[in-house]
Amino acid sequence: LIQIGQPEHSVVTTCAYCGVGCAFKAEMRGQEVVRMVPWKDGKANRGHSCVKGRFAWGYAMHQDRILKPMIRDKVSDPWREVSWDEALSFTAQKLTHIRDTYGRRAIGGITSSRCTNEEAYLVQKLIRAGFGTNNVDTCARVCHSPTGYGLNQAFGTSAGTQDFDSVEDSDVILVIGANPTDGHPVFGSRMKKRLREGAKLIVLDPRRIDLVRSPHIKADFHLPLQPGTNVAVVTSMAHVIVTEGLVNEDYVRQFCDWEEFQDWAEFAADQRNSPEEVEKLSGVPAHLIRGAARLYATGGNAAIYYGLGVTEHSQGSTTVMAIANLAMATGNIGRRGVGVNPLRGQNNVQGSCDMGSFPHELPGYRHISDDATRATFEAMWGRPLDPEPGLRIPNMLDAAVDGTFKAIYIQGEDILQSDPDTRHVSAGLAAMDLVIVQDLFLNETARFAHVFLPGCTFLEKDGTFTNAERRIQLVRKVMAPKNGYADWEVTQLLANAMDMGWTYTHPSQVMDEIAALTPSFSGVSFARLDEMGSVQWPCNEANPEGVPIMHINGFARGKGKFVITEYVPTDERTGARFPLLLTTGRILSHYNVGAQTRRTANVAWHPEDRLELHPNDAELRGVRDGDWVRIDSRAGATTLRALITDRVAPGVVYTTFHHPDTQANVVTTDFSDWATNCPEFKVTAVQISRSNGP
Ligand code: SF4
Repeated sequence: LIQIGQPEHSVVTTCAYCGVGCAFKAEMRGQEVVRMVPWKDGKANRGHSCVKGRFAWGYAMHQDRILKPMIRDKVSDPWREVSWDEALSFTAQKLTHIRDTYGRRAIGGITSSRCTNEEAYLVQKLIRAGFGTNNVDTCARVCHSPTGYGLNQAFGTSAGTQDFDSVEDSDVILVIGANPTDGHPVFGSRMKKRLREGAKLIVLDPRRIDLVRSPHIKADFHLPLQPGTNVAVVTSMAHVIVTEGLVNEDYVRQFCDWEEFQDWAEFAADQRNSPEEVEKLSGVPAHLIRGAARLYATGGNAAIYYGLGVTEHSQGSTTVMAIANLAMATGNIGRRGVGVNPLRGQNNVQGSCDMGSFPHELPGYRHISDDATRATFEAMWGRPLDPEPGLRIPNMLDAAVDGTFKAIYIQGEDILQSDPDTRHVSAGLAAMDLVIVQDLFLNETARFAHVFLPGCTFLEKDGTFTNAERRIQLVRKVMAPKNGYADWEVTQLLANAMDMGWTYTHPSQVMDEIAALTPSFSGVSFARLDEMGSVQWPCNEANPEGVPIMHINGFARGKGKFVITEYVPTDERTGARFPLLLTTGRILSHYNVGAQTRRTANVAWHPEDRLELHPNDAELRGVRDGDWVRIDSRAGATTLRALITDRVAPGVVYTTFHHPDTQANVVTTDFSDWATNCPEFKVTAVQISRSNGP
């Protein structure tokens, strides 16, 4: 931390890392940040922060930032620094040529969950109305797209049901595939406080996360399931609830489709879902499944919090729906202390999804094929829209390899490092005629780019983020953009280079347009957010103050839907060649692929990723703590140092992916969620051997 001097003024803004959405006061001296102080009136953090947020300003000042646009004809050419005018006209001419030569569906783009709502909205608008295609996707594809699908099926909304305050009324907390004290530290602390006050804790996780056993907290049940068996274990909990008469029938009859419930109950009660059968495939002792189910159903207000350990599986959407089934069957929805709560990884993953970043949905989760919805947007945007859903990220890459997809505009996303099957991503990018990257740093994806448009940080722009509890908060400009333009301005410049004629002068006007087009945002404006501090959508005429807790008197879709969640094992199998299962996660001091936190003071606390290996598996391979080890999978190989620990069960290994050297995604498979294509990052069969280093 470099103390520059005493602050002269301060600006309240919102952290750009995780989905908690902590509010900070940036204390300034001129155009330099002196320090970031958690804001006591922030409704998501109430004056608290974690070590990531406090030092986030470090990456804004980092020397690695690219501040001038760059272009090149071929990726083998050196970059050429050019003016914004030249970069934008080069890009627009190439895009126009590609559209005229190969058709509008040969172009697409990716919105960022790290950028503001207004920026995500403008990128998808440019792609739909400017490029004339629905080939738009978002980095949520690789994290919480199953949440969007699964919760929409069950409840009718693609969002968590509670506010963070709700945890204060929970008697039982069920954490599935999440590590809140590392991934969402400020909310993790609130959860710990409630646990210290006496709430019961159930953890479903292959790894012994800190919550399982930490000072003053011990999980009542830890179900250390084999990676890939979430659906079986959650459905087995449902089996216990149904067969032991623990269903809240009054709730189900009043709020859910009774016939669908009966079909589901019959399915859940089947012997194949019994704890004894599920023990054989999940490795979780039957008595733990029974105990956890009984506690969840009878322990009072029971809340579920889950993370990417649920979604990043071939059955990610199925697990989300299985979780929703549990909550509905026990009546744990629609009041404080209960609910189904996805812990969102990125600061604005909820918002980027809300803003129409999926190829089949316009803002507000309305299907592109709906004529009336399309007509509303066409009238506002003044351009015809394609009624056909576009391509998802993996399909864009497939089409590029096949030669039918030629150009991509990527805002704030490093798909080469964050998406599965790195070789496939490289092949797709290499096959394109035009790759446009808009980012802070020359990231890995930029190796394949022809245009680099410098991005700006959250400190250099106005806008809004929407956190994991649907809370829309203002992001306020703390300093002038070091690169000259905020990201939303760059998108507008590109749009206008393609004759779109946009005239926004401030992101508040973009939000006004979003509000005019999106019923769940119709009461949102910058003035309102400034006055209220924040608001949780839906915010409209019916809910002018927003909605902290959803589905109080029934579901957005009408009756809650029980979905039969048959367990289908992943195609990724262990065997003699690859006997161990690799799963991945995050650590407290780093954020995602580390592009930002590695450029802050946080890097000192976790300078490298390690492979966690159980002592038995280590001994079998002659590996000692700190040794270099090689990970081999069917997809590829990488090398890192070993950390011997019984946090992981025998047969399971674990690593983080915050450092590019680790290249964890080189070894992951190309299997993905059946409904959304979310990659199966959490299950890879591997072999580990000693190595001499990279
Ligand atoms: Fe808060 Fe998350 Fe930022 Fe930490 S990283 S300060 S928990 S928003």
